[in-house]
Amino acid sequence: MIVLEGVGKQYADGTDAVRDLSLSVPRGALVALVGPSGCGKSTTLKMVNRLIEPTSGRILLDGQDVMKADPVALRRGIGYVIQQVGLFPHQSVRENVATVPTLLHWDRKRARARADELLELVGLEPSAYADRYPHQLSGGQRQRVGVARALAADPPVLLMDEPFGAVDPIVRGRLQDEFLRLQHELGKTVLLVTHDIDEAVRLGDRVAVLAGGGDLRQYDSPAAVLGA
Ligand code: ADP
Ligand code: ADP
Repeated sequence: MIVLEGVGKQYADGTDAVRDLSLSVPRGALVALVGPSGCGKSTTLKMVNRLIEPTSGRILLDGQDVMKADPVALRRGIGYVIQQVGLFPHQSVRENVATVPTLLHWDRKRARARADELLELVGLEPSAYADRYPHQLSGGQRQRVGVARALAADPPVLLMDEPFGAVDPIVRGRLQDEFLRLQHELGKTVLLVTHDIDEAVRLGDRVAVLAGGGDLRQYDSPAAVLGA
């Protein structure tokens, strides 16, 4: 479970990116944090995996303060999916998905089998796609590879930053549906941020709406957001 308690972030130039944010993501739930561009969503996710240090408040992951955790161990338990998935252009799709297993020194055969299993899971038939290079994929397919890569070491937590934002609306809808099916099966603890209210309502078990100035409204059922 992820808990943010009165979290704030002021950047060195004085920008108050996040102010007094309190939020929790129960184990196995998908909380969608939605708000306009610039309201601090990416900053929030980066504080959870400790790419950025909060200036106030604290963040707990399964009860442990992330600022006191070993960053390598912390990130091993967290899959991170961003909008423009930074796939390595000179590595095949399979090698890209196996990035984390390779860092963890899994043997080649096991890493390869895991990568192929995940490609299958995200709808990319390994015999057709595993040996391709990122430039040989469509935008939607690259995004799927990004999701597969984030899942490779089976982290209990997923942080998703506009994961389906870079593709056209039709592909986006398909990826959202596929991700929902996947999440149903995997039951990860997910904090997803998006500026797209429809995406938040479609994917979130719970939706938190972040307005400018740090005002946060939380809705236990997505339908309640639309009624508000
Ligand atoms: P969102 O993800 O909701 O679009 P961000 O978290 O990226 O918002 O940014 C929140 C605010 O912090 C914005 O005003 C942005 O310009 C500012 N910001 C983001 N990164 C930095 C940085 N490294 N230094 C200074 N200001 C930043
Ligand atoms: P999607 O609906 O997933 O975004 P696209 O319409 O972009 O798919 O692409 C359609 C098909 O064309 C995909 O099966 C993809 O593999 C293939 N494709 C796209 N770009 C390339 C490329 N540069 N080289 C080879 N095949 C490509």
